[in-house]
Amino acid sequence: MLGLLVKAFAILLALGLAYVSIKRALLPKGKKAAEAPPQAPRKAPVIEADDMVRCPACGTYNAAGQPCAAPDCPTNRA
Ligand SMILES: [Zn+2]
Repeated sequence: MLGLLVKAFAILLALGLAYVSIKRALLPKGKKAAEAPPQAPRKAPVIEADDMVRCPACGTYNAAGQPCAAPDCPTNRA
């Protein structure tokens, strides 16, 4: 008799869980999308041409204030 009660309780519990999951699945998806802020498209970092400096020794363009990146540049041969 007790086993039957436990079984009935388990069935009710399963039904309750199923009800909750179905209710969640039936919720309008638009509401969820409205809650989350729209993701702004990420802008790729743009290196302006003004920030590039031409190396006088080898002609390679490097970021302003940075040493020449060319490995065979005369300025790197100390
Ligand atoms: Zn250079």
